[in-house]
Amino acid sequence: MEAAETSVEMVTEVVNRKRENLSFTCYLCGMHEFYTHYGKGSRARDSKLEYKEDVFMLNNPFLPADTKPENCLVPFLVLGGTCNECEKTVCVDASCSIFCHKRYCLSCVKLHEDKFPEAVVKECLKREATKDPPQ
Ligand SMILES: [Zn+2]
Ligand SMILES: [Zn+2]
Repeated sequence: MEAAETSVEMVTEVVNRKRENLSFTCYLCGMHEFYTHYGKGSRARDSKLEYKEDVFMLNNPFLPADTKPENCLVPFLVLGGTCNECEKTVCVDASCSIFCHKRYCLSCVKLHEDKFPEAVVKECLKREATKDPPQ
């Protein structure tokens, strides 16, 4: 069963408009997108995740243009946040960052394993191991 997860690649294809210079790039996977909002992710109202951090958001490109944000479930898509360790921007993809009180990129988790709870490091290594090879 596939959950209604929005693939970042799909978004990248749909949104091809450039907006000012509000560009977001994930330094790990290179995902590049123009964001429309930066701030507390609670605005994103993601059904599964609650973002307590400042995140980069994009107007949900799958909505009809006249939809009012308050009338829809997911008015914004969350692109990513800032790693609290290296201060680089990383996307929310499971293979790029993890949220443990604060957001950390996976490479920082690996570098500073001793600083993170064992569960986080384990989760991080598990994600690494289950990464699908490119098709
Ligand atoms: Zn990424
Ligand atoms: Zn980092």
